[in-house]
Amino acid sequence: CSIIGYYGKEGAAPIIVKGLKRMEYRGYDSVGVATESNNQIELKKGVGKVNEVNSKIQLDSLPGKIGIGHTRWATHGKVTEFNAHPHPSNSGKIAIVHNGIIENFEELKKQLEEEGYNFKSETDSEIIANLLQKHYEETNDVKKTILKTVSEIKGHYAFVAMFENGQMAAARFHEPLIIGVGQDDFFLSSDVLGFIEFTDDAIYLENGNFVILEENKFQILDFQGEHAKYGITKVSKEF
Ligand code: GLU
Repeated sequence: CSIIGYYGKEGAAPIIVKGLKRMEYRGYDSVGVATESNNQIELKKGVGKVNEVNSKIQLDSLPGKIGIGHTRWATHGKVTEFNAHPHPSNSGKIAIVHNGIIENFEELKKQLEEEGYNFKSETDSEIIANLLQKHYEETNDVKKTILKTVSEIKGHYAFVAMFENGQMAAARFHEPLIIGVGQDDFFLSSDVLGFIEFTDDAIYLENGNFVILEENKFQILDFQGEHAKYGITKVSKEF
């Protein structure tokens, strides 16, 4: 159970696969990666270890400089390819990875189903993808979309969302999420091991904060939408 995001100048998929491998000690049953290039999201996932799945379906060959990855420790829904993350939204224009549990997903799922959304997995996590799609279609604004979504979901979570137009956002509530600040790129990870070989500048996102990444800049906000305080910490490369 780890999440990772890469937003940068290099091929995202190999960096993400490396990061997931480094975080294997955290335990998991399935793995997946999604990347964005030319305003299109592509996704690959499967049951098993990072190396096994990667040698079968080449997670690291996905194109693009923006991407997200996940190793899953199933809590809701069996260990299957469909239940593995990333989860795309119905439109395929947003994909998410999530660690934790969304406690009120059944109630939210029912509401969205009434509005015409359908769900392809048995997970609690897929609700995040479709709530984001709904609010993004309403607002056309990533900040408003995250604020609305976090006001509706209950439980504990860290999630990273990637939008087809190349925007990325990540939110944290009682699950870890760390931002790695590189020279021309950003990393999002459950553990500094996810990016330590690329940068040792880290921002430990506070609980109840989220980050929006854009080219060469980022904003960190709280769940009321106000700018949040943060500090950049040097992490030790000795591990
Ligand atoms: N609750 C989610 C699931 O079962 C996420 C589990 C995790 O943290 O890996 O898919």
